[in-house]
Amino acid sequence: MRIAWRATTRRTLEGGPLDLLVIGGGIVGAGVARDAAMRGLKVGLVEQHDFAFGTSSRSSRLLHGGIRYLTQGRIGLVREASVEKRIIHQIAPHLAQPLPFVFPTYAGNRNWVLWQLKFGVKLYDLLCGGRNFGRSSWLSRNEVREKIPGLPQTNLQGAVRYFDGFTNDARLVIDTLRSAANHGAMLLNYCRFTGATRRDNWECEVEDLMTEGRFQVRTQAVVNATGPWADSLPHSRVKLRLTKGVHIIVEHARLPVTDAVVMTAGKRILFAIPWGQRTIVGTTDTDYDGSLEEVTPNEDDIFYILKIANQFFPAAQLTGNDVIRAWAGLRPLLAERNGEPSEISRSHEITNPEPGWWDVAGGKLTTYRLMAEQTLDRIVGSLRLAAKPCRTAIEPLLPAGDAGKFSGILPPETTRHTVEHFVANEWAFRLEDVMTRRTSWHNYLSDVQQKAEQVANWMGELLGWSGERRAEELRRYHGLVESNRVNNCEATALSKTTQNARAL
Ligand SMILES: Cc1cc2nc3c(=O)[nH]c(=O)nc-3n(C[C@H](O)[C@H](O)[C@H](O)COP(=O)(O)OP(=O)(O)OC[C@H]3O[C@@H](n4cnc5c(N)ncnc54)[C@H](O)[C@@H]3O)c2cc1C
Repeated sequence: MRIAWRATTRRTLEGGPLDLLVIGGGIVGAGVARDAAMRGLKVGLVEQHDFAFGTSSRSSRLLHGGIRYLTQGRIGLVREASVEKRIIHQIAPHLAQPLPFVFPTYAGNRNWVLWQLKFGVKLYDLLCGGRNFGRSSWLSRNEVREKIPGLPQTNLQGAVRYFDGFTNDARLVIDTLRSAANHGAMLLNYCRFTGATRRDNWECEVEDLMTEGRFQVRTQAVVNATGPWADSLPHSRVKLRLTKGVHIIVEHARLPVTDAVVMTAGKRILFAIPWGQRTIVGTTDTDYDGSLEEVTPNEDDIFYILKIANQFFPAAQLTGNDVIRAWAGLRPLLAERNGEPSEISRSHEITNPEPGWWDVAGGKLTTYRLMAEQTLDRIVGSLRLAAKPCRTAIEPLLPAGDAGKFSGILPPETTRHTVEHFVANEWAFRLEDVMTRRTSWHNYLSDVQQKAEQVANWMGELLGWSGERRAEELRRYHGLVESNRVNNCEATALSKTTQNARAL
């Protein structure tokens, strides 16, 4: 199997001119490309790494209005995202599983008061237009004890139970891109935008990181959808405040939650989310000024998450040894100098600092479709492009028979057939592309190194890799596994310190 389509796509992009070039293949860029293609525009997209390499494969995977934003009075934001979570369920049901959350409260905790939460969850249901994934309810102390047996009982008052959606963030990007491509969008991963000049059209310089060549794309409009990178792009006027969020994965048997559980830490909340044979626990929210290319969890991040988890599930006595994998992502928040990171608004902003150039920044995974629709409305209006109306809220991402085959909340089986699909139809070039963003095997499986050997053999055969290339892919992947592991030395320290987790 050869990757001839790549050369063809590149030639078409070079041939131009396009109506629109999207920079960045995260969820926002994917959404913009899909919307533009569905409106009949000639659109291209370039991504410097693999699609979904950035924040869009490192989130908490929730489709949510954000119950905690209600306490900040951000009703408009919650309403907007609540409507969008329902829309994603409609257009991609295979990637939007209804997920109940239990939010326990304790006497004396003034940040999270039971009667206020009872009011909040009812409002939350209404903000979805009364069409939430399930009806919220209240649980007595005894009901909480039955549902979540491990929680501390001292001072426990009761809980609220409400619904959000659980997704697979990277798959949502890939399937949105598949939809965009089916409507004619031209997509290239491993191609970096390096600069642009405005004449009649924009002339954009792109570096092909697969061939190390450079090429030019002429386009009427450019959309900067580069998430955490958005303020470092030439011509961008975006101002960001980046915060880091870390998650850990443990065996489900070690934290056997059936509903997601909300764990409070001051005004912040963390989640324990059931994911098949695993439980995802996170997240942190701390200011970040390190490298954008390599964002990794550190010991403090892991310690913080384990400490909170052990406060809420003291019998679990989780230590670093329980952490199967840990990962970190950056929130591209619109700059607000003041305030705690968790209090900064998750709203988005679309600006047009120069003719034909649009910056799209901020937002959430859940609101990506709306961000794309608003961006396209502005571009079409401003450049007076002949375009069809937006249909992204009603047309499914993938045909019904196609959707669940290789894409879902849980990873697919590790088979040659599956890998062949990712290579042939989903732009997978590197071993890491398949192990992480196409499948989540990296975070889910415990024998990833063995699986990686097998997958590397299949990819090598399909893509004609030399022995050297295969070894290089395995070496790179091994490096990734190491950077996502919590080593034993840390684990010992963590186990000692977390034993003293105080009662709630
Ligand atoms: C810890 C954490 C948890 C979160 N949880 C949730 C959640 O549960 N629900 C929710 O709705 N939201 C959540 N979010 C927010 C959500 O994940 C982000 O808002 C969203 O993924 C951002 O998408 P993006 O496309 O803007 O950025 P990204 O996904 O980072 O995509 C930007 C892309 O641009 C590429 N790029 C950069 N520069 C260039 C260049 N010069 N040329 C070409 N390509 C370039 C990058 O490589 C990158 O792939 C969470 C965020 C974090 C960090």
